Amino acid sequence: MRPAVIIGGGISGLSAAYELARAGVPMVLIERNSRLGGVIQTERIHGCVVETGPDSFLAQKPWALELIRELGLGDEVIGSNDHLRVTYVLKRGRLAPLPDGLMMMVPTRIWPVVTSPLLSWRTKARMAMEWFRRPARAGSERSVAEFVAEHYGREAVDYLAEPLLAGVYGGDPSELSVASVLPRFLELERRYGSLTRGVLAARRRLKDERAGPLFQTLRDGLGRLVEALAARAQAHGEIVKAEAETIEKSETGFRVRANGQWLETAHVVLACPAWEAARLVRSLDGELAALLDSIPYTSSITVSLGYRQADVERLPGGFGFLIPKCERRWLVACTWVGTKFPYRVPDGMASIRCFLGDEDLLGASDAEIQALVEEELERILGLRAQPLFARVARWPRSMAQYTVGHRERLEAIRARLARWPGLLVAGNAYEGIGVPDCVRMGRQAARAILAERG
Ligand SMILES: Cc1cc2nc3c(=O)[nH]c(=O)nc-3n(C[C@H](O)[C@H](O)[C@H](O)COP(=O)(O)OP(=O)(O)OC[C@H]3O[C@@H](n4cnc5c(N)ncnc54)[C@H](O)[C@@H]3O)c2cc1C
Repeated sequence: MRPAVIIGGGISGLSAAYELARAGVPMVLIERNSRLGGVIQTERIHGCVVETGPDSFLAQKPWALELIRELGLGDEVIGSNDHLRVTYVLKRGRLAPLPDGLMMMVPTRIWPVVTSPLLSWRTKARMAMEWFRRPARAGSERSVAEFVAEHYGREAVDYLAEPLLAGVYGGDPSELSVASVLPRFLELERRYGSLTRGVLAARRRLKDERAGPLFQTLRDGLGRLVEALAARAQAHGEIVKAEAETIEKSETGFRVRANGQWLETAHVVLACPAWEAARLVRSLDGELAALLDSIPYTSSITVSLGYRQADVERLPGGFGFLIPKCERRWLVACTWVGTKFPYRVPDGMASIRCFLGDEDLLGASDAEIQALVEEELERILGLRAQPLFARVARWPRSMAQYTVGHRERLEAIRARLARWPGLLVAGNAYEGIGVPDCVRMGRQAARAILAERG
């Protein structure tokens, strides 16, 4: 049996490799970096757990936690400190807390919204009126901005939806597809008309399921998940440091060229970004390549800073703050790491994780990026203290954008892939950007191979 070939050693590719290894199916995972994990990268600096990529996953989506438990890491799972959860949003130069009881941009409690300094009276009145909306016919594809504006008005787009989604997708709500990014809200609109009524009804139904924390992660960082997956995959397969260069049709199925060598296989999982998958399949299927290439990506930069606790004691606490596009210079969001999770920051220290999304900054030096971040932290928080450490990480073209028409693009990709039995895709470009969805898609691709091999 020729080994299956997996291209990309991020969480999607590693999850596929693990699933094949578990079934005893031979595989070769090709990763071009010397490090596995893709955008997942954990470091320890000055005793702090520094996540330069993702720091956690949504507890509501079960696939990451299931995998972690299977790997025997269940004891290392920690939850976010939800009792300390306050997120601030910058408005006219001041930080205003997001009202309590908000589900994304949907208000579920009256008083916190009424008293919120973040929203104008006009928006508050609009939010109250939304309760009376009647169920809509199956709405046509719209942007997230159009959808939110229809329900709660423009200010809710600018000060709620945009900053909340920028932190997750690094994208623009006027381009993102509501059907792909907020499918549950679209369903609630169809059933109830009002999102507020829909969320409250759904919450009553799901009351027991939502008992735990909002975010989960591993005590020593998500890098532990990468290590454990790699160890399991390596026990049954091979992990090769090489760059996949192209894929061609062959008598046995496909042949993949990596570092000048050809690998024959019946199954290939493309677990690299869609733009890279497009390059690899171009000579095999130009139309498939064009479809994959049409999925846009944005880039992000994280800057992790460590401080003496005494230097930051007077600053607003909570999980952190978001900067809406209309107020933004460089910073998109900041997280207080030690408040959001236990075990991340030693006593006497504090750590801030900052996100930036400007493509133009990718070429700037670490020192230049750090200087911009410190300047903004001084402007917003009045923070002038010198950090004990700074770690800048660049993630170019890493965040797939589910723009309007994403579902149709996905269907077209699936239809095209159906012509190439044995060729599969997995990754954040397709059915979910977060770690849990990537785990699910990676394992699903492997299961499709297992089903075919019988
Ligand atoms: C800064 C940041 C913060 C995030 N925060 C969160 C969070 O808190 N929670 C959450 O759930 N999600 C978060 N995400 C999203 C989530 O982490 C990613 O969507 C997910 O990890 C992507 O995994 P992947 O395996 O699909 O892709 P990647 O991690 O991009 O891995 C793809 C791999 O393919 C390799 N590769 C590419 N081309 C080739 C080639 N030709 N040959 C060989 N190898 C190749 C790359 O080197 C890379 O290792 C975040 C993302 C970023 C960038």
